[in-house]
Formats: sequence, structure tokens, C-alpha cells
Amino acid sequence: MSDRLLLATRNPGKLAELQRLLERAVPGVAVVGLRDVPDYPEAPETGATFVENALLKAREAVRYTGLPAVADDSGLTVDALNGMPGVLSARWSGRHGDDAANTALLLGQLADVPDERRGGAFVCAAALVTPDGAERVLERSWRGRVVRESRGSNGFGYDPVFLPDGLERTAAELTAAEKDARSHRGQAFAALVPLVAELLGRS
Ligand code: IMP
Repeated sequence: MSDRLLLATRNPGKLAELQRLLERAVPGVAVVGLRDVPDYPEAPETGATFVENALLKAREAVRYTGLPAVADDSGLTVDALNGMPGVLSARWSGRHGDDAANTALLLGQLADVPDERRGGAFVCAAALVTPDGAERVLERSWRGRVVRESRGSNGFGYDPVFLPDGLERTAAELTAAEKDARSHRGQAFAALVPLVAELLGRS
């Protein structure tokens, strides 16, 4: 079995998070990211669901590198918007990755929505695909509500306007460790770890 596992992302924060979780649970497996793969042709995320996108990204990474691969796809689903922005979270305002514009548009759309109907969740799907064709995929969510004004400067994306259930600080007012322990991505990666151990033969 391969000693290397590819996480199909260029995000150093996600890479470090999965590395921390896997180091303890599956010693000897080195997690590498797309920055370690020269000329990687990143395909657009065309799936209709988080699960589809995570699987598409993981399959593509295996096909290109021959390594077992993990990929995730995530976003914010708002009840009052019938689950949108959803898989369009990163490009909600029309410009991919423009966090400030995406958040401003969302707050505008929810301006007349009363506090009791501003619920939603961050959702993360995580997929593991191996070169011999085994596939595992799972989804985890983190419930909360969208507040009316940004608060906090940690994190990214919609964190400053997301108030997790049971907390009085927005996701952007949590430390990275506090967020990892609760978040959709933290939960999805943690649930994936035993599956990595199983499929890489190290359980
Ligand atoms: P991706 O899964 O890295 O493609 O992220 C999709 C988009 O969802 C991001 O650009 C953010 O807008 C949003 N998103 C996903 N996870 C989070 C989070 O933990 N905090 C804030 N925004 C998030």
C-alpha cells in the first residue's frame, strides 16, 4: 500500500488540519497537497451536490497522480434561501472566492428575513478514492444562523456572519482549534480517518 495520501486542495489550512488528524490515527501515512503536484489541471466543480463534487475531485486526483486521494467540498446552506448558496457558495456574487462580495450579497438577500428564520448550516462532504477503485464518501454539517453584521476576523468565507448554535461568538471569533473541533469540515475529516485506516490497510 502507498504511504502517501493526496488531499486534493491547494488550501494550506485544510492540509494541515487533515495532517494533524491523520498523523495520530494512521501513523506513517504522509498527506500531500496539490501544491506538491506539478501542473495539476484543476477541473471546475460541476456537480449538483457537495457529495458529487467531492467524489469528482477525488477521482480526478487519483486519475492524475495514481495516489489514493481525499477531496472535500463545502458551503453554506441557508434555510430561507432553500439551501442556497449551497454548492455555489464560493462564487455566489459571480466572482469565485470573493468572500466580501459573497457575504454582502447574502446579507442583502436576508435583510428582511426575521431572526427566527435565519437558520442554516455549513456542510462538508469528504470523499476518499483509492487507485483500485474503492470509494467512500460522507457528509457532516454544522448548524447555526446568519447574523446581520460581520463579527470577527479569524477564518474565511462566511465565518464572520455565521453564529453556530449554542455559541455566542461567530465562527470568525473562534480560534482555529475551537472551530476545527466543531466545524462541518472538522467533523467530516474526523469521520474519514477510520476509513483511511481501513482502505490503506493500517487499521
Ligand atoms: P470549498 O469547499 O473550499 O470550495 O469552499 C466553498 C465555499 O464555501 C468557500 O469559498 C466559502 O465561501 C464557503 N465555506 C466553506 N466552508 C466554510 C467555512 O468553514 N467557513 C466559511 N465559509 C465556508
